[in-house]
Amino acid sequence: MKSVDIVIVGGGPAGLAAAVAAKEAGNDSILILERDNELGGILNQCIHNGFGLHTFKEELTGPEYAYRFIKQVLDLGIEYKLHTMVMDIAPDKTVTAMNREDGMFQIKAKAVILAMGCRERPRGALNIPGYRPAGIFSAGTAQRLVNIEGYMPGREVVILGSGDIGLIMARRMTLEGAKVKVVAELLPYSGGLKRNIVQCLDDYGIPLKLSHTVVDIEGKEHVTAVTIAEVGPDRKPIPGTEERYTCDTLLLSCGLIPENELSRSAGVKMSPVTSGPIVNESLETNIPGVFACGNVLHVHDLVDYVSEEAKRAGQNAVKYINDGCKDADTSDVIDIVATEGARYTVPTTINVDRMDDLLTVRFRVGDVYKNSFVSVYFDDERIMHNQKRIMAPGEMEQVILRKSQLQEHKGLKKITVKIEAE
Ligand SMILES: Cc1cc2nc3c(=O)[nH]c(=O)nc-3n(C[C@H](O)[C@H](O)[C@H](O)COP(=O)(O)OP(=O)(O)OC[C@H]3O[C@@H](n4cnc5c(N)ncnc54)[C@H](O)[C@@H]3O)c2cc1C
Repeated sequence: MKSVDIVIVGGGPAGLAAAVAAKEAGNDSILILERDNELGGILNQCIHNGFGLHTFKEELTGPEYAYRFIKQVLDLGIEYKLHTMVMDIAPDKTVTAMNREDGMFQIKAKAVILAMGCRERPRGALNIPGYRPAGIFSAGTAQRLVNIEGYMPGREVVILGSGDIGLIMARRMTLEGAKVKVVAELLPYSGGLKRNIVQCLDDYGIPLKLSHTVVDIEGKEHVTAVTIAEVGPDRKPIPGTEERYTCDTLLLSCGLIPENELSRSAGVKMSPVTSGPIVNESLETNIPGVFACGNVLHVHDLVDYVSEEAKRAGQNAVKYINDGCKDADTSDVIDIVATEGARYTVPTTINVDRMDDLLTVRFRVGDVYKNSFVSVYFDDERIMHNQKRIMAPGEMEQVILRKSQLQEHKGLKKITVKIEAE
């Protein structure tokens, strides 16, 4: 069986940034395994601009952003295999994969970095009534058809869900000559970035109907019309509020789910909130030497944060190997708890000795908050209280913890992140 120090599962932005960081940290035995026919992940189909503002201080398209990292992987001579599907990761870090040239093969790794990204929530999970005619696509599938395969899914479009992909596709379909009639969102707020609502809907006069859902899809062979209705606080349709739109296409943009079948079967403990692995300050899961980063860990809003996080996963994997592949010491661990408006945090535990001088704790809120405060408590003492003009579930939030600050609080057991009105 071949041995490699670090196996990276997934060659999207997370896997690429982790590989580059691991190589730059001094490790020469890295292998990226990617099931697709090219590196770059989901960014290859995101031909709109808006990527990389934080990382490169310029607006790039998805493929341009990905290429900056692909080029580094090529220049640094990092090994990768395309068309290679990882089938299994054993707790001892034996990775089983398959491709046409090698058939089924196994690799023994010292560290594994999970970077499998996420997938779209399918229609089956959404309970929409009606037949199952042609013309219903997930927004990401439509994006791939239009941007990579060169097909138009339809001409008259209704979109359910206001996640970023749905918003981006509302603009894309419009630019390709389709009429996007409405975007319906079940929740009373959009799940997407504010900038995408402005640039993709408002700029093109596409209405966004919050607290609305699809109640009927007409057409047996192909979609012919979609009816939406307003929902009450219980998210049930309100009779009498139905609006019918003739259309040939319904796009679904109803959320993303981290792709963690491999992680689960390896025995990685998962967060019920993020559907991603539970990790410590080093982005290490409960299995020593198995790290996670990018959308497989939690769904990110901006790819810049994916790259930043993945860099740390790569560096920490090298550190783990250089330190002799020891199990993480769990005796002096501080728990990070999200409560009162904060839905989760990544990471969920900190060992102060192992943390860098600065640690970014990312989280999302569960509702829209205006002029509220992000508060951080060390046990019962409030040590951070930052006012934010607006916070919404579609945008990630963060607090930065200093190592020196934590070292001053000897015996600290719990850090709490919450949202306070004053
Ligand atoms: C439609 C869309 C629009 C977006 N727009 C923006 C934007 O405007 N600005 C912005 O900053 N961000 C945007 N994002 C977010 C950004 O693209 C993601 O945050 C980023 O791509 C996540 O990187 P990743 O590497 O974690 O996942 P991915 O890019 O999904 O990469 C994961 C890779 O893992 C591979 N993989 C999965 N399972 C296996 C397996 N078992 N074996 C081998 N390989 C495997 C996949 O094939 C894939 O290549 C958008 C995302 C989407 C989906």
